[in-house]
Amino acid sequence: KPHLRLTGVHRHYGEGERLVRVLEAADLTVESGELVALVAPSGAGKSTLLHLCGLLESPQAGEIEIVGQPTSRLGDRARTRLRRSTVGYVYQFHHLLPEFTALENVVMPQLIAGRSPKQAEGRAMELLDLLGVAQRAEHRPAELSGGEQQRIAIARAAANRPRVILADEPTGNLDPETSDRVFAALEGLIRNEGAAGLIATHNHDLARRADRIVTLKNGLVVPHTL
Ligand code: ADP
Ligand code: ADP
Repeated sequence: KPHLRLTGVHRHYGEGERLVRVLEAADLTVESGELVALVAPSGAGKSTLLHLCGLLESPQAGEIEIVGQPTSRLGDRARTRLRRSTVGYVYQFHHLLPEFTALENVVMPQLIAGRSPKQAEGRAMELLDLLGVAQRAEHRPAELSGGEQQRIAIARAAANRPRVILADEPTGNLDPETSDRVFAALEGLIRNEGAAGLIATHNHDLARRADRIVTLKNGLVVPHTL
């Protein structure tokens, strides 16, 4: 079963003259270990799609299944619980906690999820190592480069072994070389951990490294070539 499946998803905003139809009967499936790049112009609905996939917004119609579980009939608490246990979200700007070290930033979501400090640290170090920032474990975010900060943010998003990893312009404010390393780290993580990855990016070179590229057209998610 795919880790992420959208079927017939509708999402519009406003009404009357202000109606904006973003998605109309959109379908999308992302398998375990698969990396899909989402490339579309600004305002096309990339953030909306990612928010829907991450259960941060609800569609007006259609179904979103995460690891086979339909979500349209879930109440708020059940949605939040499912989101916390299955979805990892990476943003363009990292939102790390400034007063904590890199390691602590990756440990924290695991403690909240009920893991022991020892287990959490083990997992955090494994991730920092995988992302090539293990030597930065004791540094605070302000002491790290943009690329390092973003890799810590990726480690944090992955800490609780999410089955779905969503990234909204994760390299949007990085220079080309750093973008490359950060994207490679994200890609390695998704494949290594068998998560379903959906990454919105304007960077065509990076998008080409995904298994598939999709775009948004007439409210649908459609295959795309660059
Ligand atoms: P992208 O991420 O591709 O730039 P968005 O998903 O942010 O696109 O937005 C898609 C469209 O939906 C835009 O026209 C935007 O103005 C509109 N939109 C997004 N969120 C809202 C909202 N909360 N209320 C009204 N319109 C919105
Ligand atoms: P946590 O379990 O750490 O409190 P949440 O359940 O709040 O995490 O959120 C799960 C994921 O969704 C996280 O990656 C978080 O950054 C993201 N997220 C939570 N709320 C929002 C929001 N309002 N807008 C965008 N992303 C959000």
